[in-house]
Amino acid sequence: MIPDGIELRKVSPLLQCSVIPQMAQPTDLVLREVDSAADEIVDFAAELIRIPTVNPPGEFYADCAQAIGARLQDFDFDVEYLAATSRPEHTKAYPRINVLGRRLGRVARPLLHLNGHFDVVPPGGGWTVDPFKGVVRDGRLYGRGSADMKAGLAAAIYAVEAVRRAGVGLQGTVEVSGTVDEESGGLAGVAWLAERGRLNATLTDFVIIPEPFGVDRICLGHRGVYWFDVVTYGRTAHGSMPFLGESAIVSMSRVLDAIRDELAPALLGRVTAMPVVPEGARRPTININGVSGGQADTSQPTPCVADRCTATFDRRFLLEENIKDVRKEMISLLERVAADEPGLKYDLSDRLIVEPVQTSKNSPLVTELQAAVGEVSGRSAQLVASPGTYDHKHVARLARVKQCVAYGPGNLEIAHQPDEWCAIDDLVQTTKVIALTIVRLIG
Ligand SMILES: [Zn+2]
Repeated sequence: MIPDGIELRKVSPLLQCSVIPQMAQPTDLVLREVDSAADEIVDFAAELIRIPTVNPPGEFYADCAQAIGARLQDFDFDVEYLAATSRPEHTKAYPRINVLGRRLGRVARPLLHLNGHFDVVPPGGGWTVDPFKGVVRDGRLYGRGSADMKAGLAAAIYAVEAVRRAGVGLQGTVEVSGTVDEESGGLAGVAWLAERGRLNATLTDFVIIPEPFGVDRICLGHRGVYWFDVVTYGRTAHGSMPFLGESAIVSMSRVLDAIRDELAPALLGRVTAMPVVPEGARRPTININGVSGGQADTSQPTPCVADRCTATFDRRFLLEENIKDVRKEMISLLERVAADEPGLKYDLSDRLIVEPVQTSKNSPLVTELQAAVGEVSGRSAQLVASPGTYDHKHVARLARVKQCVAYGPGNLEIAHQPDEWCAIDDLVQTTKVIALTIVRLIG
């Protein structure tokens, strides 16, 4: 039956008997290009692994920025090298060089920025393969930084390239940046780009950071961080007559007991609505990062009563908590301990505060990524949040870009471990998802 108002067109006799070829959709062409580039993507990730960009101290950054920049240039990006000259960690021996590639669309906006850090943590012991060789074995790419996150950088670059190879023109603009120092806070990397206005809400609409969450997990944000030091003070005396002094270490042990007996159970009673994985991290946590005590003017043990003890704490807080209350809670615990322990003197000083961040699950970035994951993997994407922070904090706080997620190949649990690896299948699949998302968001 032909619905009303639809006119039958005359079909030429020639067309009548031939098979009309089905026009391939642009997205099919893009997916096909990713498949044919699979070996190239793995080779490029392996090439990056072979540059041992170990942080600390930040080795071979210039070489790695150059390797990424050269590939971006080959792929028709305008490339800039941006040295974080104003940062104290940018030195002659260890220059902090970031690389930024831009491919202008028909218009400047919307702009999608793909960012990956290229520094890696030191390899440590326990490896059964060379951590800097880029070994491919049994469908896996091995090496320090394979998952975290040189495979992610390769996925980002080849996702954009697959769109170009498929001949799909983009309306909006796409950028890819390779940045330094994420593993040590990112101040000379993403934070520096944001402070210099290179990554900013006035230019940038969407940011994807291909950190290793795997093909069907999209990370919306992370918990907050409060790092602080507590120092307790005592009165020194001869170690053979400790009753004549007051031990700062004994005082600190009172503080540690109170944290275990009072604060830790209170934290267990709070649960965030954020989808943090693993589930144990849906509650606030406190870790004692380190304790050192003794005589204030020496790091050597002496036959004396300790007059100083310092402990560094790492309190992770929830989106539903407030840093002011988190701090206040700690101070009132210290006050309670001091009230029970006449003569106990302490200081509390902040080291680092990172606010929790979360991108709305209803934002176009998340919904398009979710749809692309479904199309490529056939599974529905799991929305997660990270227990620890990553460069999203700078994108949110300094660049003020509201739509930012982490999505990339590899498995977070094996990052920073010996024999770190990324499944090649995961690398190809995430490249496809990112490529589809590019087409849908800015095509
Ligand atoms: Zn990382």
